[in-house]
Amino acid sequence: MTHYSNNSGFTIWFTGLSGAGKTTLSHAVHEALRDRGVLNVEILDGDIVRTHLSKGLGFSKPDRDTNIRRIGWVCQLLTKHGVPNMAAAISPYRDVREEVRKMVGRFVEVYVKCSISVCESRDVKGLYKQARTGEILHFTGIDDPYEEPLNPEVIVETDKENIEQCTQKIMTKLEEWGYL
Ligand code: ADP
Repeated sequence: MTHYSNNSGFTIWFTGLSGAGKTTLSHAVHEALRDRGVLNVEILDGDIVRTHLSKGLGFSKPDRDTNIRRIGWVCQLLTKHGVPNMAAAISPYRDVREEVRKMVGRFVEVYVKCSISVCESRDVKGLYKQARTGEILHFTGIDDPYEEPLNPEVIVETDKENIEQCTQKIMTKLEEWGYL
């Protein structure tokens, strides 16, 4: 098939609780894409973005929204210029995710679903413990909301499916949507 436009860009938007597996899966998909010859893929990881692009922002709703809009803006630019990209950020609010979806266009929302108890038992960064003792306030899933996607392109259940299965599910969806 001949592609007359240069649009090989798309955004994979991972959303889910802390410890659900967004970062892990973004790296796994990155590798799977590389194996398919898709190079120059950019990952915007929420934790890293908060150290530069969104430095100084906190975790109130307005600050979280600003953070997500900034990430979404960069995703939109990359997608427009044909660079496949992924965002891995909790992005707890449905309305802003929808805003970003509209802005980006070629957008695959992946709901990284995992029970809070499993996320908490993983406690990858030790944050749940701190949230439980009150050292961290406004922690998503503990004392701050998480709004599940209503119509995501993909749902991966990381407390039931392993990393390979989740990655395959995402790759299959990219093929179905004609992005690969
Ligand atoms: P997040 O980016 O959502 O905060 P991380 O990717 O940092 O989460 O951590 C998820 C943890 O769960 C990792 O230690 C990872 O190895 C583990 N894990 C177990 N099963 C899965 C799975 N199916 N998908 C992704 N991560 C998984």
